[in-house]
Amino acid sequence: MTTLTIALSKGRILEDSLPLLAKIGLKPAGDIGRLLRVPTNHPNISLLIIRPADVPTFVEYGAADMGITGKDVLMEHGGEALYEPLDLGIARCRLSIAQKKDAPPHDGIRRLRVATKYLELTRRHYAAKGQQVEMIKLYGSMELAPLVGLADVIVDLVDTGNTLKANGLIETEIITQISARMVVNKASMKTKHAMVQDWLDRLSGVVERG
Ligand code: AMP
Repeated sequence: MTTLTIALSKGRILEDSLPLLAKIGLKPAGDIGRLLRVPTNHPNISLLIIRPADVPTFVEYGAADMGITGKDVLMEHGGEALYEPLDLGIARCRLSIAQKKDAPPHDGIRRLRVATKYLELTRRHYAAKGQQVEMIKLYGSMELAPLVGLADVIVDLVDTGNTLKANGLIETEIITQISARMVVNKASMKTKHAMVQDWLDRLSGVVERG
């Protein structure tokens, strides 16, 4: 019996992934809040519930055949080792630069300080503009950095903009639009092709375009 392991991203993406999977007839058959490996209503399919940033690693090494994670994570990870066959159109947001609403214009003498958890994406963005910046790696609460003088700007995900607004920050530039993607292990795509393709086709049929 061919088995399939699908890695799902905890948090916001999971909230959008479960209804999508339900639409194609795949439902967890266990406590999704507690279990890290969850059986499903299909005896040969199980789910792994892990951090979004770990999904590419699990899929790349074949610990999961397929996975759902954000385009932000894939761009930061460098997605060459994975297939990325489907934009799921869920967990839509944008990767943006933001600063304090009342920040004076940057003097251009000192290097701009950028706080982010997306070091690679941020480096690439400023390198493309020919601007050298000082990057500060944070793991969360990026919005705090400009308020306490840790950084001039942040690079973070923005959805409604409410978090920025609540912290007196404004979005100054959109780097890229983001959504969650289905990724597939390269070997699984060959060895389990019929099963992987079947689930990809079902998903593709329920994805909202645009
Ligand atoms: P919002 O206040 O709706 O703009 O949401 C912003 C906060 O939610 C920030 O802390 C973001 O890092 C986080 N966020 C927004 N959209 C996503 C997403 N699709 N996936 C993960 N985190 C997100």
